[in-house]
Amino acid sequence: MIYSIRWKLLVGFILIVVVAIGTVAFVANRSATGEFDRYITQDQALKYQRLSLMLSSYYEQTGSWEGAQELIDRISKTYQNRIVLTSDEGSVVADTAGDLMGNSSQAALNLKIATLGEADNPSGFLYLKDRKRSELEKIFLSSVNNSITFAAIISVLAAIFLTLIYSRRTLKPIKDITSAAERIEHGNLDQEVDVRSRDEVGKLASAFNSMAEELKKQERLRKNMVSDVAHELRSPLTKIHGYLKAIKEGTMETNEKAINSLYRNSRLLKRLVDDLHDLTMAEAGRLNLDKQPILLDDIVSRVVESINLRLEEENIELNTESNGEILLNVDPDRIHQVLLNLLENAIVHSPEGGTIQLDTELTDNQVEISISDEGEGIPKEDLPHVFDRFYRVDRSRSRTTGGTGLGLTISKELVEAHEGKVEVRSEKGEGSTFTVTLPYKEKGVADNLPRNRENSS
Ligand code: ADP
Repeated sequence: MIYSIRWKLLVGFILIVVVAIGTVAFVANRSATGEFDRYITQDQALKYQRLSLMLSSYYEQTGSWEGAQELIDRISKTYQNRIVLTSDEGSVVADTAGDLMGNSSQAALNLKIATLGEADNPSGFLYLKDRKRSELEKIFLSSVNNSITFAAIISVLAAIFLTLIYSRRTLKPIKDITSAAERIEHGNLDQEVDVRSRDEVGKLASAFNSMAEELKKQERLRKNMVSDVAHELRSPLTKIHGYLKAIKEGTMETNEKAINSLYRNSRLLKRLVDDLHDLTMAEAGRLNLDKQPILLDDIVSRVVESINLRLEEENIELNTESNGEILLNVDPDRIHQVLLNLLENAIVHSPEGGTIQLDTELTDNQVEISISDEGEGIPKEDLPHVFDRFYRVDRSRSRTTGGTGLGLTISKELVEAHEGKVEVRSEKGEGSTFTVTLPYKEKGVADNLPRNRENSS
């Protein structure tokens, strides 16, 4: 409980109320006391003025202070203080308390409030003993204090009540998120919490929902990946196993057909494992790109060189159009791998005698390398998926061509690792164009002159 935010809020609010009420009480008490004292002082000054006038006229009428005690006893009820009257010589002639009568010592007398008669010929002096706070004052001040204490108690109770309600409402989403996170911890990934507000807690709730959704997606992808990999491996492995079993049991001879099939399937297995390795590394961001300045033309010539034989075999023409000496800062092997993959796909999908076009075009600070073929194209519904893992438009055809369904996925990852992108445009029956966009370092480095070069293979 004491570690909960609710408890901390409660303690915080109570402290605020106590400090606020304490300050108000202190200030109110001081100003009430001061005001009250001023009022009393003014009131008494008037009363003493009246008293001194009364006593002066008494002396004028009677010519002595005889009977003055009776007079001040009568009127003392209106005064809260002890009043002492002395003759012009200083001996006490009247005292509301009575014990200073006849006494001439003025030490016990505190405050001289009036000289009776004329200043140069006084008939007596009026003294006042220590002023004590009257009962009325005490009642007034204690009622002020009581009101403040009452307000403090009500405020603390209200603070407790409101904090409990407020914290319950505010912290409810956090409680929900905590419970949902605990359920995720126990493997139940299907969690979503209500987003009730647009404040920080609301943002936390929506961030949590996005995270839970992403976790679910990743878990789904992981499961799909395992089942996809198992599925992809099963086919070549089953064939290899079948052939070897038949040869072992003597139901089949080790002829060229069997060896070719074994070779083809083991090669597919190897490609699958290599591709999976590349893909895993790329997806985990552990590719360790060996970036270096290199001319795009150099990469293209290397790719063309390595694919020339296949182009000849398939009777396919490749046109490459360069757009000047473009200097890239890339890992040459990885970009070579991407372009090779796109060209191999273009060959596989080109009709016999078809032409493949490789163009480069410069935009603001990027270079676009596009590879277009005259193949069967990709149906519209398949286009968004061609970069997905193991996605094949025509499964049976892809198997016979030895495709793993990972080539485009890897290419996309490799290009993105170079802060580039790869896109496809295609229409059924109209061929396909794959475009790789990469940031480039410099143009015209070799001879500063854009050069158009046509290379037919
Ligand atoms: P694969 O190794 O099977 O070729 P890819 O990832 O390279 O796998 O390609 C995925 C799928 O995209 C292919 O199976 C094919 O159906 C389609 N595809 C790729 N390139 C082309 C192209 N140039 N023309 C038509 N379809 C293509």
